[in-house]
Amino acid sequence: MTYSLNWDLDSLFTGGIHSAQLKAKLKQIKTDTAALGDLLDRWDATSDAPKFQQFIKLITQLQAIEAGLAQANLFVSSIGSADIANPDVAPTEDRLRNLETQIQTVSDKLKKVLVQVPDAQFAAMLNLPALQPIAFNLTEMRDAGKELLDDKTENLINQLNLDGKAAWSSHYDSLVATVTVPFHDANGDPVTLSAGQADNNLLGNADPQYRANLLPAWEQAWTDKEQLFADTLNHLAGFRLTEYQAHGVSDFLRAPLKDNRLSAATLKTIWQVVDDNKQFLLDYLDRKAALLGKKHAGWQDVEAPLNLPGSQLHHFTYDEAAAFIIKHYGEFSPKMAVLAQKAFANHWIEAEDRAGKAPGGWMESAPETNESRIFMTFTGSPNDVSTLAHELGHAFHSSVMGDLPYLRQGYAMNVAETASTFGELIVADANVKAATSDAEKITLLNAKMDNPVAMFLNIRARFLFETRFYQLRQQKLVTPAELNELMLNAQKEAFGHDLSTYSPHLWASKLHFYIDDLSFYNFPYVFGYLFSLGIYAKAQQTDNFEDQYIALLRDTANMSSESLAQKHLGVDLTQPDFWLAGVDLIKKDVAEFMRLTDPLVHPTPRA
Ligand SMILES: [Zn+2]
Repeated sequence: MTYSLNWDLDSLFTGGIHSAQLKAKLKQIKTDTAALGDLLDRWDATSDAPKFQQFIKLITQLQAIEAGLAQANLFVSSIGSADIANPDVAPTEDRLRNLETQIQTVSDKLKKVLVQVPDAQFAAMLNLPALQPIAFNLTEMRDAGKELLDDKTENLINQLNLDGKAAWSSHYDSLVATVTVPFHDANGDPVTLSAGQADNNLLGNADPQYRANLLPAWEQAWTDKEQLFADTLNHLAGFRLTEYQAHGVSDFLRAPLKDNRLSAATLKTIWQVVDDNKQFLLDYLDRKAALLGKKHAGWQDVEAPLNLPGSQLHHFTYDEAAAFIIKHYGEFSPKMAVLAQKAFANHWIEAEDRAGKAPGGWMESAPETNESRIFMTFTGSPNDVSTLAHELGHAFHSSVMGDLPYLRQGYAMNVAETASTFGELIVADANVKAATSDAEKITLLNAKMDNPVAMFLNIRARFLFETRFYQLRQQKLVTPAELNELMLNAQKEAFGHDLSTYSPHLWASKLHFYIDDLSFYNFPYVFGYLFSLGIYAKAQQTDNFEDQYIALLRDTANMSSESLAQKHLGVDLTQPDFWLAGVDLIKKDVAEFMRLTDPLVHPTPRA
């Protein structure tokens, strides 16, 4: 089988960025949104009762508009990712953002009309066959509606946001584009890297000396512009806090927890489990340092590859990677294998290794056609195969929800990372098993540790930082020196004071702190990772887990995270037990890594 390395976007809209079909679609969405707004102004619950036919029409219309926008968004961002220099993408994206704001305003209006429906009448509404499947989502919308201010004010906030949070977020991108990192490589030759290149090399370059030379230059580059980044972060957070305050909210974790349908008690338990169970990862980092000839690992070593003699990794062709994923998915779930095969065969994936593409990887679904698109750059490493398996895991999640009402497909970020991590785990484990030498196995296990190290240590530090930053920001503007200190202390705490170097400017270099839609873009990853490990542990003990797994995925936008786990796994997320079962899986990997590397750091004396 020969699969194309390029995707086909024509089934979304024909004709590229200037697509007439896209233009017509956006025009239609605009008209429909305005019409929906008018209908909502006139809607009256009492005269619509008891059948609520008018409301059913309205909510169906809103879902169609939102699905249409998602389809258009995917199309435009796909073109932009595959061709970053395309000058026609930004103006179209701007049109989409404006449209999104209009839809947001109408959606807010719908939330507010729901508040006007008396409780008893609302309960009756939710029992109607047409509305019952989205009962949870409508209840969420009504609850959100209770916190909204009057239409005029909400509209003003949405409009101001375009030059507020959204503007600061895109200003961050502009600033990062000006960052260059000049330094001397391991041979003493001068090199200048862009921020993106430096970031990749800092964590991923195979030469420890190269990484060690790069770290101080990297920190200096952010130091040079730290005031600009501090302004950006302060104003982004300041806008957000003012918005919370206007809605009577003083707890800055409330919205992120709500967005993830997660309780504060569960988050507390997760961090407790992480803090109580990190010693084995610190031991792993010490062992890694020893293999690199050091006493302690530096910041630049924590995710670095290990280049052991004889550890030449298997190089996959794209077709081999596809076959490998389909085969190992199939051992767990035939339906996952079928979906992966479909994604390869139907040109849903852009994987070509060429210049002019955006970095990174992502999956987005196309709700109107129940398809997905996956973006990545495939170079043939086992890591790329894992990335592909990760994105296909996301695609599987979307595909099993494709027949549900659009509102019921709106799963949150924490559970979004569940199916992806799950897909990745299946393939990463298969990679380790397929290794033909100890050296190769060590290299692959080391790569597999990137996730737990990121989740338990790095992301833990980011959460500690962000919490303390928001506490301080509630009182004052935070200076660059204070931001550096907050970050350094958070890293030392999370990494158990075990590293020889740190990255105090991570608050400036990490994009995740500057996303306008969401703050605390960190704990959902940890949840998703540990949740999928827990499911993976369960899957290995359960026959025919496939149906149970799919049933769980289909409910991911239909209840709280706690109810989801209780209903489909029979576990209580506020207690540590379920999380610890996942931690045990990582511990096994680390134990294997320690066993295999022991002779390398404690060579047996010759007789
Ligand atoms: Zn993902």
